[in-house]
Amino acid sequence: MAELVIPITESDSSADIAAERLYRKQRLAAAFRLFARFGFSEGVAGHITARDPEHTDSFWVNPFGMYFGHISVSDLIRVDHTGTVVEGDRPVNTAAFAIHSQVHAARPDCVAAAHSHSLHGKAWSSLGRLLDPITQDACAFYEDHTLFDDFTGVVLDTEEGKRIAHALGDAKAVILRNHGLLTVGHSVEEAAWWFITMERSCQAQLLAEAAGTPVLISDESATATARVIGTHIAGKFSFQPLLDRILREEPDLLD
Ligand SMILES: [Zn+2]
Repeated sequence: MAELVIPITESDSSADIAAERLYRKQRLAAAFRLFARFGFSEGVAGHITARDPEHTDSFWVNPFGMYFGHISVSDLIRVDHTGTVVEGDRPVNTAAFAIHSQVHAARPDCVAAAHSHSLHGKAWSSLGRLLDPITQDACAFYEDHTLFDDFTGVVLDTEEGKRIAHALGDAKAVILRNHGLLTVGHSVEEAAWWFITMERSCQAQLLAEAAGTPVLISDESATATARVIGTHIAGKFSFQPLLDRILREEPDLLD
């Protein structure tokens, strides 16, 4: 019998590998359904990935070209470090592999990464600026997000993915200039939550700056707020109401 390993997430599931895998896949399918609800899909763009708890150089991801809002657990595919689909019979988005394989490799502490071409995230990204601490919620990203200050076209090779991972550093999120947002987390829930709330923080700052000059939260207060709402546990916990909602409204996501 295979020896059980300690889960690499802070998940509440048992240490059993199969249970941990299912745990991650269920949250991943739920995250896609929520991304669809929030309108984060743009054609075939966007991907959320969850590292496999056993084959840790591979990850689970959405099949290329499938609507986020139709994704169930059984639709998810697993892609190894060479870009080969090793579980599932649908293709992977080349950009998903090029970006996420490098982010997962560079951040062994992270279980999940999320990226899509959500409207306010991509609008904000075109400014080539970091988010300012103008609201309590935006403080989750205070001194914990970066800017990939480059755009050379669709990311189709892992060298570009490496550069994005390098720009991300040890932060929870990176703004990809002229492209959109990318977030990571120690759990699927956390990565998905940072994406959702970062998109809304982009919208809030766009709205505020369209109306006037926002008052900045002080460095001291922003740092203190980040310590409360910006932690791994806080990110995971913040996703829970959304998870409860989507499980009640779309229980077939578990199929
Ligand atoms: Zn993209």
